[in-house]
Amino acid sequence: MVIEADPELCVGSGMCALTVPDLFDQSQDDGTVVVLRPVPADPELDDVRDAVRRCPSGALKLTD
Ligand code: SF4
Repeated sequence: MVIEADPELCVGSGMCALTVPDLFDQSQDDGTVVVLRPVPADPELDDVRDAVRRCPSGALKLTD
């Protein structure tokens, strides 16, 4: 599974970085999402799904 983030959709809410700080951060410039590691480990997948659900702008996807 691979995390995809669309910075054009991101509104910089920071929910992803709060939910899974090992995998997401926010740009120092504009607060948009930075994916630190696009391929999560299996035990991290539930947390990543949570982050995708909590993202208010639909900027995150978890794909095969
Ligand atoms: S939760 Fe969504 S909108 Fe908020 S910083 Fe992360 S990707 Fe951007």
